[in-house]
Amino acid sequence: MRGKRPFLQGLLKDMSDLLHNWETKSAEHQKQYKNFLQRPDKNKVLKQLPALHEEAFSKVDCLKCANCCKNYSPRFKATDIKRISKHFRMKEGEFIDQYLLMDDEGDYVANRAPCPFLGADNYCSIYEVRPSDCQRFPYTDEDILIKRPRVTQKNSTFCPIVYYVLEKLIAP
Ligand code: SF4
Ligand code: SF4
Repeated sequence: MRGKRPFLQGLLKDMSDLLHNWETKSAEHQKQYKNFLQRPDKNKVLKQLPALHEEAFSKVDCLKCANCCKNYSPRFKATDIKRISKHFRMKEGEFIDQYLLMDDEGDYVANRAPCPFLGADNYCSIYEVRPSDCQRFPYTDEDILIKRPRVTQKNSTFCPIVYYVLEKLIAP
């Protein structure tokens, strides 16, 4: 046991250090992320992602963050609108009028930020029926992480989970 303690302490320090001041480190490492995402070893990355995704979610508490729900809107696709308006027992048109607007790309998005469905406790009030974009965000277990490098880079500036996964991927 004695021999293991310094190793364990070192490991714990490493884990907490990675997320300490993560916003600053993410800003400083954007160029490295860009270089990495330009020519990733796709097979290697796809093999690493499931474990890194789990690891990042075990260290970051989304309920203490909610940066995504506070600042950005998911797309509300037709199937999302149908499901959520049914949940509220509203007509789809009423739901759209009350909560959504159409953005420049022709997608329905929330008409305000933070998201109207975000509670003061950072819980999503429509969690069971939330849009598919919300179910998939932050895409750290999908190939989209390397297929859409610009989006991944942007996400790494406000999502500590994306930051964490990228840091692990670029580590020597
Ligand atoms: S920004 Fe990332 S860490 Fe924060 S709540 Fe959203 S998914 Fe979770
Ligand atoms: S629907 Fe829920 S999970 Fe999606 S942005 Fe709004 S509060 Fe967040």
